[in-house]
Amino acid sequence: MPSSNTIIRITESDNVGIIPQPEGLTEGSVLTDGTILLEAIPMGHKVALSDLRPGDAVIRYGVPIGYVNTFVPRGAWVDAPKMELPEPPDLEEIQLEPGEPPVVEPLTGYTFQGYRNPDGSVGTKNMLGITISVQCVAGMTQYIEKKIREELLPKYPNVDGVVALNHTYGCGIAIDAPAAIIPIRTIRNIVRNPNFGGEVMVIGLGCEKLRPERLLSEESTSSSVLYLQDESFHGFSEMVDGIMATAEQHLQKLNKRRRETCPVSDLVVGMQCGGSDAFSGLTGNPVSGYAADLIVRAGGTVLFSEVTEVRDAIHLLTPRAVDTYVARALVEEMRWYDDYLAINQADRSANPTPGNKRGGLSNVVEKALGSIAKSGTSPIADVLGPGERVRRKGLNFAATPAGDFVCGTLQLAAGMNLHVFITGRGTPYGLSMVPVVKLSSNSKLGNRWHDLIDFDAGPVAFGEKTIEEMGWELFHLLLAVASGQKTVAADRWGLHNELVLFNPGPLT
Ligand code: CA
Repeated sequence: MPSSNTIIRITESDNVGIIPQPEGLTEGSVLTDGTILLEAIPMGHKVALSDLRPGDAVIRYGVPIGYVNTFVPRGAWVDAPKMELPEPPDLEEIQLEPGEPPVVEPLTGYTFQGYRNPDGSVGTKNMLGITISVQCVAGMTQYIEKKIREELLPKYPNVDGVVALNHTYGCGIAIDAPAAIIPIRTIRNIVRNPNFGGEVMVIGLGCEKLRPERLLSEESTSSSVLYLQDESFHGFSEMVDGIMATAEQHLQKLNKRRRETCPVSDLVVGMQCGGSDAFSGLTGNPVSGYAADLIVRAGGTVLFSEVTEVRDAIHLLTPRAVDTYVARALVEEMRWYDDYLAINQADRSANPTPGNKRGGLSNVVEKALGSIAKSGTSPIADVLGPGERVRRKGLNFAATPAGDFVCGTLQLAAGMNLHVFITGRGTPYGLSMVPVVKLSSNSKLGNRWHDLIDFDAGPVAFGEKTIEEMGWELFHLLLAVASGQKTVAADRWGLHNELVLFNPGPLT
């Protein structure tokens, strides 16, 4: 058990500490450095380790995460209302020259069992996907999904499931607006996700703006398109029969897929946070970052995302870009998002959420510094715009909003075949298309949600285990999940969220 009055400081220069005790600490508690708590402070929140005068920087991770706007004596709670946000790094001033590249030591000898596809990609699940070209037909695909699950899937035991890839796009849209490329390529690239094995069905209506043919890639010869307005269909039951017959053809092909031994270099792991707390940056994210480094060392691909959560730490990321082109692309994604927020009169204080704040995260700067830890230490090999498909192996920044479902949807489009989701507050988030491995950043959540969390990184908070030990444990868990040998909690309970497209373009 932890000694009761230990607190967590990341660097020697930090003038605040984090309270790790699950029940918090009471007024009068004495910390190991002699600081006496002037008030009760809950778990995950910050205590001042020295007197802070108005304008003084609050230092965590060795950098200012804000400036106090009132006198905060040593031993007092440093919470959000007492802090002002620092200015975000000026994009004009960002260094674009690559820094000293980190040494990437190759890691060999690790494999997983996956479904290899004709295009070279590898699936971790064997799913029948049914996409749509317009929301009008979503009711039909929901109906069909259920009917396939009940009537057809029992006949095809090697198929893991069927999923309607429903979305709200397709008609009433300004399809030629520049921003329309984002939702369109997202839908297109999700069809190409390795877990569908190139056997996706497209259901269209017939009169929509987004032509279903635009959703099929040139190389996909085995995908098929059906229109509900096809004049050969007389009524609903004939449409259902037509779709079921087509589904059966795809299921027959999918049922022949078999897992084979694949190198870790075939993994595309999407990392994201949701419902973060002050522990996320101490435990869950560094442990995920360590595992991310192992995957990159083994030749695999890791995606990290969530623009608003890296914006305030962008100056720490550009020196890790492999070249100035990639560094510039990182800055351009930040600039695009700054403009997108400005047009809509939002600012970055819209993040964090009230839950983040209750978890001890005072502002977006503190959140960003913890958030980028999940990218590990590898060089940044490439930058993907929202909805783009991965081009280079290694660590990729896939630009997405931070909202969990939008980020997950865009990472699916990038080609993610395994998802790591780090949470401090807790969320039942899941996707049916890829396994979602959920990590808790603190054991209080890990214990309370013992059957919803797949991996508890909490022991790192008290030094019971090291980041390195837990990073390796997570890496081994990821290989077992990718191989279908371990089932994640979200799949065990069937907890699956809908796709949510990022559409920055106008509706008409
Ligand atoms: Ca998120």
